[in-house]
Amino acid sequence: MPLVNQSGPNCSVLLQLFNRIDSTVTHSSSSALAKLGEFGLISRIVSGVIAHERVITGIGDDAAVTALSTGMQLLTSTDMLLEDVHFRRAWHDPYRLGRKSLAVSISDIAAMGAIPRWSLLSLAIPPDFSLDFVDDFMRGFLAVASENQVVLIGGDTCSSRSGLTISVTIMGEQFPDRIVRRSGAKPNDDIWVTGTLGDAALGLKLVEKAGFDSAQPPKSAQPPGSAVPTSCSQSGVEGDDFLLSRLLDPNPRVSAALALSEAGLATAMIDVSDGVLADYGHIAEQSGVGGCIRLDDLPLSADFLRHTVQLPAIPYQLALSGGEDYELCFTAHSSDREKIVDCVKKCGIAVTRVGIVTSSPGVTAVNPDGSPYIAKTEGFNHFT
Ligand code: ADP
Ligand code: MG
Repeated sequence: MPLVNQSGPNCSVLLQLFNRIDSTVTHSSSSALAKLGEFGLISRIVSGVIAHERVITGIGDDAAVTALSTGMQLLTSTDMLLEDVHFRRAWHDPYRLGRKSLAVSISDIAAMGAIPRWSLLSLAIPPDFSLDFVDDFMRGFLAVASENQVVLIGGDTCSSRSGLTISVTIMGEQFPDRIVRRSGAKPNDDIWVTGTLGDAALGLKLVEKAGFDSAQPPKSAQPPGSAVPTSCSQSGVEGDDFLLSRLLDPNPRVSAALALSEAGLATAMIDVSDGVLADYGHIAEQSGVGGCIRLDDLPLSADFLRHTVQLPAIPYQLALSGGEDYELCFTAHSSDREKIVDCVKKCGIAVTRVGIVTSSPGVTAVNPDGSPYIAKTEGFNHFT
């Protein structure tokens, strides 16, 4: 089974996606999972887990025992990823799905200005899944764990009758005075974001447009006798590997978040998972303030802009409300502008001032011509 390139996005992202579609459900090996059983599978999952000095008792007992650093507090967060709600097997190859499952949880700990340390992984797996799928998923999960010095210390494993369910719990630690909450923004603070916005949302539009919204690749992409396209151009999304990798393989901004929290520069912080408009809205609500975001200042990637050249207007909707950016949105005193640029850029990450915190409630966005922007939707919401 070909393995997904671990070194980052390349031209063959879609080739890899196609390769995975067939390997997701392998009838010949459907009994492999059953033969292995729950405990065999757990042993297989944990075979790649490395020991760590902070983990006193890891996987194998009823509960894990870990040591907190002296003077630090524990931060805990949990996230679920449901098939056909958060991911589709036709789009998310197992390696990147494993990476993303942990990355989005790490992003929550980073958004508190804390150090990610330990994770728990619970999987409900349909019995007809191939072992290759589980192995590739775990390789991705453990690769992100190792990149962020996070240790897998436990979880739960069971079979599912309705798609793959992934639940990840993440724990981190930090000194109390370095923890950054959503509630600290003050009127006249600047609103900042790291990286660029809207790439993942545009990537999603592209895979939808290319017909990746079914369990099978589009017919036009299949060379005769094969489910695997011979080149990216057959996908219709050639050259968009950056946008796709932003969707499929987000990079939590841990170093920037820790640099900000250690320097005491962020007054409030959140990670952008539902779109900056909605996520800054949470900061505003919990801080008892409002905010104004300038569309002209939203950081947009070269790849994002390349697509907008053909459009009558820049699709600010994607950058404001598209979701899945996993960038940081934070507020800071206006006197700290230079320090912030220095601090975040040292981590190799771009940072942009996009607006201002207001004393009056409500979050508004302003068009480049100064007129108010009317958002179609405020971000992804599961029940609307
Ligand atoms: P229990 O019966 O106490 O719930 P389990 O038999 O479910 O224990 O799990 C045995 C050990 O394997 C525990 O330490 C648990 O945390 C760990 N474990 C189970 N599933 C996973 C998984 N998917 N990833 C990591 N650890 C797991
Ligand atoms: Mg259990």
